[in-house]
Amino acid sequence: MKKLALISMLMVFAASAAFAQPDFDKVEVKVHPVAGSVYYLEGAGGNIGVFIGDDGVFLIDDQYAPLTEKIVAAIRTLSDEPIRFLINTHMHPDHTGGNENFGKMGTMIYGHDNVRTQMAKAEYTQTPPFITFGEDMSFHINGDKVYVFKTPDAHTNGDVYVLFENTNTIHTGDVYRTTSYPYIDTTNGGSFLGTIKAYDLLIELSDADTKIVPGHGVISNVADVRSFRDMLLVIRDRVQSSIDDGQTLEQIQAAGLTKEYDERWDSGRRIGSAKALLESAYMDMKP
Ligand SMILES: [Zn+2]
Repeated sequence: MKKLALISMLMVFAASAAFAQPDFDKVEVKVHPVAGSVYYLEGAGGNIGVFIGDDGVFLIDDQYAPLTEKIVAAIRTLSDEPIRFLINTHMHPDHTGGNENFGKMGTMIYGHDNVRTQMAKAEYTQTPPFITFGEDMSFHINGDKVYVFKTPDAHTNGDVYVLFENTNTIHTGDVYRTTSYPYIDTTNGGSFLGTIKAYDLLIELSDADTKIVPGHGVISNVADVRSFRDMLLVIRDRVQSSIDDGQTLEQIQAAGLTKEYDERWDSGRRIGSAKALLESAYMDMKP
């Protein structure tokens, strides 16, 4: 009995550690300009994209429910127009936690079909997007075309990029981050090799002036993404040759295959660690 209780306690810890919630009272929501009338908000959780104009406010992701008031206050420093549209770049609670609150305010919430189905499968308690789509959709608002489209399965199976044509800006959701190694959520359909394909696509879509807003971290350019992608190619090849040599996952994780990159990119936690990255690579390439 005692042992069972301990195990279930550990499981609760593991589940909450995956998306460890910050002390919301202390979180400050900061506005960062990106280009034209596109901004991003930094608070706790994924970077929120904000696009303002006469047609209304368009948002990308909404962090956690207890932060909605602070997020709305930050938006109100930019625009008094109604918050009409909200895209969920993927299912994770640090990007969808505000859905319920924004839904009640009348905001229309969109996401890929898999965001909704995978949130149900994973038994998330957050409100899923109301409107879902299979491949892509476009918003013709505020003097720009905002193109939202599915990437190869990468961080999850429901990832989208959001591209602002006139301002040459792309919000990547968590497919790309500058805070750690990519986190590949394999339990929710993410893929290491798909992540490389998604970076190839991002590079193809970008020119030297494109502003790339990551799910976590700071604005990047295509050269940053290219070197991040190239690092994954090196890691991919090393994992492949270890698999060819008959090594197990445990041996691969102990072999120091990422060592020259670890100081910069290994989060040391479950999300964004070298260990988790190698596991996701192994799962995609194992015989
Ligand atoms: Zn995520």
